[in-house]
Amino acid sequence: MIQLTTAAKLENAIAKARTVKTRVRVNAFGSYTVTNKQTGATYTVTCEKRDGKRFAHCSCEAGKRGRACYHLAAVLGVHIQLATEQASH
Ligand SMILES: [Zn+2]
Repeated sequence: MIQLTTAAKLENAIAKARTVKTRVRVNAFGSYTVTNKQTGATYTVTCEKRDGKRFAHCSCEAGKRGRACYHLAAVLGVHIQLATEQASH
């Protein structure tokens, strides 16, 4: 579980997300499946808000160790957009 605090912490993951071709599928709000188009590997990323803090978790090896991975970075863009849409309804 990674607490999402500053964008700076995710900088490397975001940079990698730009170089790896991924596909993000929305399972439900806060639950996503990320596919690496090159390897076909899929991982599950979940995002949640607890006590006003945002947390994210990825099922890949880096994610299990609490590191911000590019799957998470790829999902965040989608998640923030959905969250913004929800807030405006
Ligand atoms: Zn990951």
